[in-house]
Parts: sequence; C-alpha cells; structure tokens
Amino acid sequence: MLNDYFPVSLNVLYNNSGYPIAVVHDTGQQEPPMQSNALIIDDDLDVQLLGNMLLGQHGYAVVTASSFGELARQPELLNVELILLDIGLGEFSGLDVLDYLYDLRLNASVLLISSCSKETAAYAIEAGREKGLHMLGFLPKANLLTNLKTFLEPLKKIPKAPTREELDNAIRDKQFFLEYQPKKELPRGRIMGVEALVRWRDPERGVLYPDAFIPLAEQSDLMVPLTWLVIELALAQQAEWQAQGWRLNVAINMTAAFIKEEKMLEKFDQLTRQCGVSHSGLTLELTESVGVECLGYACHILNALQQRGCQLALDDFGTGYSSLIQLHRLPFSELKIDRSFVSRIEHDRNALAITASIIDLGRRLGLKVVAEGIETAAQLALLVETGCTLGQGYFIARPLPAPAFNAWLSQQLPAASVA
Ligand code: C2E
Ligand code: MG
Ligand code: MG
Repeated sequence: MLNDYFPVSLNVLYNNSGYPIAVVHDTGQQEPPMQSNALIIDDDLDVQLLGNMLLGQHGYAVVTASSFGELARQPELLNVELILLDIGLGEFSGLDVLDYLYDLRLNASVLLISSCSKETAAYAIEAGREKGLHMLGFLPKANLLTNLKTFLEPLKKIPKAPTREELDNAIRDKQFFLEYQPKKELPRGRIMGVEALVRWRDPERGVLYPDAFIPLAEQSDLMVPLTWLVIELALAQQAEWQAQGWRLNVAINMTAAFIKEEKMLEKFDQLTRQCGVSHSGLTLELTESVGVECLGYACHILNALQQRGCQLALDDFGTGYSSLIQLHRLPFSELKIDRSFVSRIEHDRNALAITASIIDLGRRLGLKVVAEGIETAAQLALLVETGCTLGQGYFIARPLPAPAFNAWLSQQLPAASVA
C-alpha cells in the first residue's frame, strides 16, 4: 500500500470525466476543526471539488454555488465566514456578487479566485474594499492547491463569532459602551445632537461593532435587553451633558421588537425620570421595518413617545428596511438618507437623483433630513447644493467614546455651538 512507503497519504481528486485534477498531500498534521463555514462561488466544477477538499482539510464545512442566480434562490448559502469567489460567472461577474454581499451587509471574508489578469483582480479587490467588504486578496486558480493555505492563515486569528450565551452574559455583565457621532447643520453650522452607537467590549475579543452582534441579538430575542442597556447608558450620558450645560439631543437606535415590548412606555418613563432627563432631548431612530401587520400598534406607541416630547427618526431611508408606508403612517419628524446613496453621489447620477428626491420628499413632508455617511468635502458640497441641511459622517467626525467626543466638541466651540 502507498501509505506503507510514504508517511503521508495521497488524496487524488478526479473531475466529472474521471480525470485526476489534483493530488493533495495530507501531512497528518491537520488543524483541529474550527467549525467555520465556507462558500465557493465558481461555475467550474473542478474548482469547486478542489476547493471543497482543501477547505475541508482546514476545518471548513463547504457549500458551493455555480451561479449568481443560485445565491439569489438560496440565500442561506451565504451564512458563512469565508467566500471563494470566481470573477467570471457566465452572464454575471464577481463584481455583481460583491454588490450583492454589500447590499446584504455580510461580513464574510472574500478571496477572489480566477484565471483573470492581476489588473482585473486588483480592480475587483479595490471595488470590494471601497464597499467595506473584507477582501482577503486574489489567488489565481492555478495556485489554489499550493497557496490557499497562505490566505487562510490570518483568518485563524479572527476570533470566533459570539454565541447567544456569550451575548446574553455580556448584557448581564454590562460589557457595552456607547460611541457618539455628531449630527451637524450643513455646511458649517451648529452641532444639533449626537447618535449613540453601541459597542461591546468583550474581554477576549476586544471591541466588537454592531455588525458582529446586532444580527445575533435580533435572531435570539436579546435585542430588547440590549436596547434597555443602551438606553440606560445614553440617558446617563445625557444627564452628564445637561449638568455641564450642553443641550445635545441624543439619538438612540431601536428595532421593531423593542417597540412591541410589553410595558415599554412605563419602563421608558421610569428610566428618564430616574436619570432626570427630559424626553425632548431624545430622538428614537427606527432602524428596521415594523411590518405592515403591526403598523397600527407601532403608530400608537410612537405617538405616545412623541406626545412625551421624543423626536422620531426613520433610519436608513431608501433601503429595504424603511419604506414609504412607514413614512406615511408613522409620526416621524426626521428622515435619515442611507449612506449607500450618500457615499455614491459624487460619481453616480442615479444615487444623486435619489438623494435629491429624498431631500425634496422630506421638505414637502415638513421633516428634518439628515444625510448619513458623509465622507468627503465633495459629497458635503453636493448635499448642500441639493438643499440638505443636516449631516453626519466621518468627514464631520467619527463616532467617539464620550471623553473623546467631549474633547472634540470643546474644540468646535464656539464656532459650531451646541444647539
Ligand atoms: P446606523 O444607525 O445607520 O448608524 C450609522 C452607522 O454608519 C454607524 O455604524 C456609523 O459608525 C457608520 N458611519 C457613520 N458615518 C460614516 C461614514 O462616513 N462612513 C461610513 N462608512 N460609515 C459611517 P455602526 O456603529 O457600525 O452601526 C451600524 C448599525 O448598527 C447602525 O446603523 C444601527 O442600525 C445599528 N446599531 C448601532 N447601535 C445600535 C443600538 O444601540 N441599537 C440598535 N438597535 N441598533 C444599533
Ligand atoms: Mg441610526
Ligand atoms: Mg442609518
């Protein structure tokens, strides 16, 4: 037997026609399974087969898709940490898939595999990075067998995704803090308020951002306790700012599940009373569609909050999460243009047209309109030209923990005084 003569076993891969396409050496030093999941998107079945085997050796459970259409029909295929993506996919391209990953706000790491030129690959990698996707790089298909391991190595250092139990414990232990990002009158006006954005300081993983735990919280009934903790932290901060004479409106993000929570209003009143904070210093940003079936109930609760003095904002307007029916039926006073439009207004006429239409819509409805995600002077100038009067984004300031925010705000004063 071969194994009697060699200390390694040889795995031969065959394609559909029965030809051997690769010989994979098994050194007997396989890593322990990491329970990670990977997806190979490639219309070449040989590559699927080879990738499947190589990734399997690194502890990945592998699923495959041959086309973009398959992904659209089976979105569950995308529940993975790693994606090997072919750039040429028949009538579609890897760029179409990157757009799709961005629209779905997926966090998976993406490794491009292709027989294309380095220039084409570099362009696709840049396009992915610009969207904020985690692009691992480019591996020519011919080198899949020999070089895949190099790309997988850094992934081992990425901590495993948190579990429900870990998140539950973290909420109980209050391992969360808030960062504050200013909302500013454009182009150089006052700071109208801040948005509170939650972060998890995990003792093992370090600081985790919402993308790493909000979806888990939503899927596992933990969004309500997490939101109460965020409200507690935001109200305590608001009380501190009030004490130092800063009248900053604080915006808190909340989901549909939270609005439907039993005795939500009573508990909310109790917390504001305890902290000595007035409702009128708060904006509640609805981050998610409340669902047509409970628009009536949501309307009742939101009206009650508005009567207490809270402002209500419809977040991420223009995405699948927020719709015209919500705008029509629910008592919003503020509309936030999703940053996927704002970030493209410089180079994409359609994004600019949509942004301008939202600004106009907001004006006609008598709403404040906030442009989210302003990153450049050119975007800001275009927004001002289009009539947008409020903005938020890295170009103005990144979200900052309270002490850093206080220092930043002190520097802005009195030129950009607090509202
Ligand atoms: P959001 O409410 O739309 O918040 C704005 C997000 O855009 C924040 O991401 C912020 O850091 C980011 N951002 C702001 N300016 C820029 C910019 O110029 N460029 C880019 N690329 N990004 C910018 P973050 O903090 O990661 O939060 C992501 C989302 O998580 C939030 O989107 C919100 O939907 C959700 N989230 C955050 N905190 C909470 C919370 O306490 N409760 C709930 N329910 N959701 C939260
Ligand atoms: Mg928000
Ligand atoms: Mg938003």
